[in-house]
Amino acid sequence: MFQKILIANRGEIALRILRACKELGIQTVAVHSTADADAMHVRLADESVCIGPPPSRDSYLNIHQILAACEITGADAIHPGYGFLAENAKFAEILAAHNITFIGPSAEHIRIMGDKIEAKRTAKRLGIPVVPGSDGAVRDEHEAKRIAADIGYPVLIKASAGGGGRGMKVARSETELSQALSTARAEAGAAFGDDAVYLEKYLEKPRHIEVQVMGDGAGNAIHLGERDCSLQRRHQKVWEEATSPALNVEQRNRIGETVARAVADLGYSGAGTVEFLYENGEFYFIEMNTRLQVEHPVTEAITGIDLVHEQIRIASGGGLSLRQDEVRFHGHAIECRINAEDPRTFVPSPGTITHFHTPGGLGVRVDSGVYSGYRIPPYYDSLIGKLIVHGRNRVECMMRLRRALDEFVVDGINSTLPLFRDLVGNIDVANGDYDIHWLENYLAQGR
Ligand code: ADP
Repeated sequence: MFQKILIANRGEIALRILRACKELGIQTVAVHSTADADAMHVRLADESVCIGPPPSRDSYLNIHQILAACEITGADAIHPGYGFLAENAKFAEILAAHNITFIGPSAEHIRIMGDKIEAKRTAKRLGIPVVPGSDGAVRDEHEAKRIAADIGYPVLIKASAGGGGRGMKVARSETELSQALSTARAEAGAAFGDDAVYLEKYLEKPRHIEVQVMGDGAGNAIHLGERDCSLQRRHQKVWEEATSPALNVEQRNRIGETVARAVADLGYSGAGTVEFLYENGEFYFIEMNTRLQVEHPVTEAITGIDLVHEQIRIASGGGLSLRQDEVRFHGHAIECRINAEDPRTFVPSPGTITHFHTPGGLGVRVDSGVYSGYRIPPYYDSLIGKLIVHGRNRVECMMRLRRALDEFVVDGINSTLPLFRDLVGNIDVANGDYDIHWLENYLAQGR
């Protein structure tokens, strides 16, 4: 087991990882920018190192500084959290060259899944269902038209190097295709320095359902069920739940087993999430995230498994702590991502939180790095906390969520708490009856 882990992240996830390390008796090193000197994870860590000024590229993305912090403190492993360097294959390689363990998959697997065309090809080869489309990048308009006619309109043009929903264009007919193709290419070239694009059938009303997996890197893998993350705004998840209100036990087991087998065959190591669009009873792979995800606590709530413990155990060579037949799903969990934003305009609202009171009680978990008197720096994302609620079934979970939202107090800044108080009372949400466009439509209608 590791003696000391450096946490290369900030905010709630840095604290989340720190807690897992403490439970395992592992020493912790926090790294932080000058803007985060007062952060909770810095206060609670055994050691801390300032790695640079506020801009991420000079601190949380600064590989040399993080490496130096690791060598100064003698940490033997790094947990990257999510975002920042979590899916940077080069970072994983550099750490390996310095005999520091990267708590995550191999650089090769990060690289494959970071290239959307390569990821899709790999998924297909491993028996995961994919969205019908071009087999790799499309060369020209002629080829695009032929493929689109074949799979049928509407089609979606996507950038191979894409991310965050950028560089995508829908074409509903052949006349729209050439324009969409050149716009997508130009945007991809400008945003990612790579203008390779591919074509996919555009699904009109899908849900977003993702499967959590864990591999030991030696050909064994388990799945921990799915999360439904269909409530999104601008491709950002807002509300996530496990299990999905749209799946039954048989569907859950079938997709879970397919994904676990694929990940085992890949020889994948650590935590990963295989994301699908789900429409009319069919799953369509969109991407694999080779890291811990923001919404992992809903899976922890229904399985009782600490995903960060598992990640650390696997990275240290201890393998998986349980077999598939030991994984049980209990009840229902929902997570709300609470952002420091205006609940109507979503304009970021940095500043000082004058009062912060979190709900508690049975089945309530709050993962947050903020506290009363904390000043939210303007340099990073606006997530200030995650409220995760668990109940024996979805109805109980919703009742508990409503009461927990009532207890939650965030004063001094704007937060998205009022949005969740609205959502929890909405009939479609109560029925679990929504697709990936539902929230945008709801917001557009002024709620
Ligand atoms: P990114 O890496 O940019 O987030 P994804 O492939 O994950 O790209 O797609 C982002 C979002 O775009 C998805 O969550 C979904 O909302 C939408 N999307 C992607 N592919 C399709 C498709 N074939 N049909 C409909 N919507 C899609």
